Amino acid sequence: MSTLRLFYALWPSPELAASLAGWAEQARLVSGGRPMRTETLHLTLAFLGPVDSALADELAAATPARRLTPGDVTLDRYGVFSRQRILWAGPAETPPCLQHAHDDLWQWLSGYGLAPPTQPFRPHVTLLRNITQSHPPDDPPAALAWRYDRMVLVASESLTGGSRYRIVAQSRPLGG
Ligand code: ATP
Ligand code: MG
Repeated sequence: MSTLRLFYALWPSPELAASLAGWAEQARLVSGGRPMRTETLHLTLAFLGPVDSALADELAAATPARRLTPGDVTLDRYGVFSRQRILWAGPAETPPCLQHAHDDLWQWLSGYGLAPPTQPFRPHVTLLRNITQSHPPDDPPAALAWRYDRMVLVASESLTGGSRYRIVAQSRPLGG
């Protein structure tokens, strides 16, 4: 049976994505690496990995009825995952509302037989790949306030030279 590689994410507005691209540009002066394309920037809430296409269809059908409790996250620091050679933007501390959104989503997903991660949630937006310096710049630009009210379900399709993302469903905003 065929599978789809899926993840749930918060997707920034075009304005916020443009600000994040500015963060990437500034960090690149120090860290090197390759910026993610602006329209692909996101914050992963849950990475599902390869999922049977039947289950993928089921999740895509169920997602529009889900509501994400709206919340705020402030992106105020750079960080690196040095093993993966990734530089990211994220909050200095995970806001409880976002942690709750993550936990609640995984609780729901576990009802579909999907196993929650064993690692703690580290909310971040990947900005640069293949960085050449393992220290992030100390001084990020002005903090970015992100008010979110929905999550998207994304299929990640492998292509030569990287992955392409396709949004397959989104949750219903409050009042929507
Ligand atoms: P590629 O792996 O082909 O270079 P990618 O990392 O952009 O591309 P995916 O691996 O499909 O695409 O990952 C989709 C999203 O899920 C990314 O934000 C990625 O950082 C995140 N992700 C991938 N693997 C995990 C994991 N094991 N745990 C948590 N998040 C993950
Ligand atoms: Mg990956």
